Amino acid sequence: MSETERFSMEHLKELMSRREYAAVDRMVRHLVQEYSVPTRPLRSERPRCTAITRKGEPCKAPAVWLPGDCQPRNGKCRVHGGLSTGPNTEAGRAAIAENNRRRAEQIRTHRQSMANDDAMQAR
Ligand SMILES: [Zn+2]
Repeated sequence: MSETERFSMEHLKELMSRREYAAVDRMVRHLVQEYSVPTRPLRSERPRCTAITRKGEPCKAPAVWLPGDCQPRNGKCRVHGGLSTGPNTEAGRAAIAENNRRRAEQIRTHRQSMANDDAMQAR
């Protein structure tokens, strides 16, 4: 039995009496309504990306939907900017610049040490 089968309402139906099942069913419906438990639509039923492709047609891909969210991130698919669009604040841009500088420095020193190793072996 798979995980999904074990927790499906159909399986509960087999395990419980009709009265027990009806009680659980009512409770679940009540919880969904009372606390308006948000449900995620299937990927195939999610809203489409709002971008226009180079063909001039609307993009057909589903909009990016981050796990745990109840709505699309920004209405765009993963190709058309649905994922991060980069740092927006001055502090964010400065942090990215600093990380890039640090990484470039690491690469520079690594290449230098490799070149030194080669020079040592060539002797
Ligand atoms: Zn798209």
